[in-house]
Formats: sequence, structure tokens, C-alpha cells
Amino acid sequence: MIYCPKCGARNPDESVQCAGCGASFSQFTAGPQGPQVPQGPQAPQGPQGGYQPPDTGYRPPKPPNYLVWSIISTVCCCIPAGIVSIVFAAKVDSQYNGGDYAGATDSSNKAKMWAIVAASVGFVVNVIVTILQVLAMGKMGQFQGM
Ligand SMILES: [Zn+2]
Repeated sequence: MIYCPKCGARNPDESVQCAGCGASFSQFTAGPQGPQVPQGPQAPQGPQGGYQPPDTGYRPPKPPNYLVWSIISTVCCCIPAGIVSIVFAAKVDSQYNGGDYAGATDSSNKAKMWAIVAASVGFVVNVIVTILQVLAMGKMGQFQGM
């Protein structure tokens, strides 16, 4: 037995609408169909803005070329060793840019070594020259003192 929710008339169970007022039972007996949650539009597959090409090869940091030190060493007296250092310092950049990382590191070490050699030789030479100059001035002083 179904009581019409609208007018209260009694209707047989199998009736789909009220015999008295004609209201449809289906919309009352059947649980209210929740509103269909609209399927949100699929997140648009936008263009892959952040795409980065895969790294084709590991690129180690460029070894220092010690060019400044080799120039300083050259200027500071020992030109032969300083020039060798500058040559190796210049090779660091070209070898690195050419992809010869091992060679660039090797040249970097040699540039540093020759810069040290040039600086050491230059320092020793400077000391000797200074001593000679002091001795010479001392003799000059002796001459002047006479
Ligand atoms: Zn009714």
C-alpha cells in the first residue's frame, strides 16, 4: 500500500502514480538521484613548457687555467717558465671547449706547476739581484765614503 505523499490517497503497491491526483510515485519512492557530479574536464594536456632536452653528456666544471698567475710569474722575472705556463693556461680553455676535459685538467695542472716554477725562479732571481744590488750599493757607499 502506498499513501500518496501529495494527497494521501491509498494506492496499490504496484501503482506508479496516484489514482487520486495523478502524481507520479516514482519520483517520491525512488531515492532522490543525487545530481550527477559532472565529470570535470580532463586537465588539458597543455604544451610541455618545461621540457628540457636530456643532457647529452656530463660536463665537468672547467678547471682553472691559472692564466693570471702565469702572467704574474712571467712579469715577475722568469720569462721562459712563465711563457710555458701561459701556453698551458691557454690550452685549458681550448681543450675544455673542445670536450677534452682530461686534457684541460692536465694542462691546468701544468700551468699551475710552471707558474709556481716561474714564481719560484723569479723570486730566487729577484733575491739574488737584490743582494747584488745591495752589495753594489754598499761598495758605492764605500766609494762615496772615501
Ligand atoms: Zn494523490
